Formats: sequence, structure tokens, C-alpha cells
Amino acid sequence: MPTELLFRDDAYLTEASATVEAVNERGGIVLDRTVLYATGGGQPGDAGSLRRADGTTLAIGTAIYDPEDRSRVIHVPLEGQASPQPGEAVTVLLDWERRLKRMRIHTALHLLSVVLSYPVTGGAIGDGDGRLDFDIPEGGLDKAEIAEALNALIARNANVTESWITDAELDANPGLVKTMSVKPPRGSGRVRLVAIGDIDLQPCGGTHVRNTAEIGLVAVTDIEKKGKQNRRVRIALA
Ligand SMILES: [Zn+2]
Repeated sequence: MPTELLFRDDAYLTEASATVEAVNERGGIVLDRTVLYATGGGQPGDAGSLRRADGTTLAIGTAIYDPEDRSRVIHVPLEGQASPQPGEAVTVLLDWERRLKRMRIHTALHLLSVVLSYPVTGGAIGDGDGRLDFDIPEGGLDKAEIAEALNALIARNANVTESWITDAELDANPGLVKTMSVKPPRGSGRVRLVAIGDIDLQPCGGTHVRNTAEIGLVAVTDIEKKGKQNRRVRIALA
């Protein structure tokens, strides 16, 4: 059974009841549904915990897609804990403080790709900081100028909304895809589009805040040259 990705429909959901589907030989726990984002798209998997029926909790260090069946999410427990049994009912809880920082940065990176409208070749999201790599032929980027433009977009208090389109509709609008290295997931027949007001629209499977006001002030902390045609721009929550 594929794991139901509850974070995809509601990134603000911090807990849910679930059933243990399987425990693999390394102790990884597959649930039928989860609120923990699984590592992907430059964003690390969420930490959290599983609360068992007897009230004890099991600390989860991260969540990843099962390399043998990417429709399933494996919850990786910290070492030295008792394993739950397949069929067991649990409550899966999210480390919300850390996730919210990632959601704020992730949404800010969408806006950074509007400020710097160059092809994106990579990116990563940390706890309160993140980066995008751009294919930019010339240098001359100014940290203060980028930060000012980025914070001006954040201050527009734009709503972030999600909708789904078919693969065929996406193929008819290739301009929607900004990232060259991270293609939107295909094969399920539909792709999720994320809109930030009338500022930005792109396919994305990640977790976002509901309004840009939640991002708060952002600083541009570094611009690195990565090869002849590449600039890495780092941002952080101020
Ligand atoms: Zn996104």
C-alpha cells in the first residue's frame, strides 16, 4: 500500500493516527499515512515521533521514500528503541518548530527565483537557511539589492495556494518549469502547481506557508561562484 502523504494536502497538520504497515530489517517503519515530509526536492525529511497505544513514544530522526518502492515512506527511528509491530495503531507527530522554519525558507526560495529570473540548477533547504543555484552568465549580483527585492515581495502578504494539473497540461505550458535539475514528479498523471498570489506559479511537491507574511524578514547571506555559469545564492531567516 502506498503511504498517504497528508503533508501534501495540509502542511500545517502536526499529528495523525496511523497504522504500522511494516518494519524493515534496519528498523525503518512504514506507515499507511504520515504527516512527516519525506526527503526530496532539496528539503530534508521531517523529524518527529510515534506515540504508541501504551503512551510511550518512539523518536523518529527523519523520513525517506523507500528506495525499493518510492510510494512508501520509511520513518527512521533513532537508535536503541523498541520496534512497533506491523498492524499496530500509532499517532505520528511532527517536529513542527523545525518544519515551520523549512516551510518559511522553502516559500522564500520560490520568491528568490522571481527576483532572480534565471534558470535554477539546484537548491537546498535547511533549518532557517537555504540556497538556490542559478545559471547566470555574468556576475555583478548585489546581496543588499536582492534582499531588498525579496523582502518587498514577502511584504506583499500574498496567499500561497495549490492546485493540480495533468501531465498533458504541463507539457502544453513548459514555461511553468523553472528548475532544470529538479523536474516535477511525473508518472502519476498529475502535477501539483503552487501559486504565490500573482507573483509566482510553478510545479512543486514541497511544503509552503499559507501567506508570505509568515516568512518574515530574510537576509541574503552569501553569493558564491560555482563554476563559470553558476552562482549560488544563500538566504536565511533574519
Ligand atoms: Zn515549493
